[in-house]
This record gives sequence, C-alpha cells and structure tokens, in this order.
Amino acid sequence: MSFEEEKKYCRLNRRWQMWVNEKHCQLCGEIIEDYEHSSVDHIIPISKGGKDIESNVQITHVWCNNQKGNLLPWQDKIFRFLTKHFLKIRKGKINRKL
Ligand SMILES: [Zn+2]
Repeated sequence: MSFEEEKKYCRLNRRWQMWVNEKHCQLCGEIIEDYEHSSVDHIIPISKGGKDIESNVQITHVWCNNQKGNLLPWQDKIFRFLTKHFLKIRKGKINRKL
C-alpha cells in the first residue's frame, strides 16, 4: 500500500468509525441512513486554520458538508437560518402582512 493509499484508507476508516458511533448529521440533525451519504466535516475549515484532529471533525451528510463549504460554524448557522426562512416565505408559510 502506498503512502497516499494508506492515508486515504485511514481517512475512510475514521469516517466509518464516526458513522458507526453517531448516525446523526451534526449540521442538520437528520439521520445519515447510508454510510455513502456520510462525510467528515472540519468544524473550523482547514483553510481557516482548523486542524485535522478529532476535536475539530464531525460527521455530516455529504450535501450538508458541501453546503457549509468553507464557512465557519456561526456563519453556517446564519446561512441555514436565512435559507429556511426564505423557503418558508416562498412557500407562503409566513404571513407577509404581519
Ligand atoms: Zn445533514
């Protein structure tokens, strides 16, 4: 096994371990039904100085992780909140006459 392969294997193994321990997405709170749908998210993105250590990783859906991208946790929360409310307004669930 080459070094790169070994590194990839370790990463996959970590994701598997995390998914086995916690099957709920740490971003949206929904269950991650399929291992293939799971993704390891860096809470503080590597690009923002976060480290690749246990305390800085969490299990999430692939799509939730993609949505979060390089946002910091609080930025992601605001983004999520706005998206949710925007959708509600669009669906007419919020009374705009208020
Ligand atoms: Zn999710």
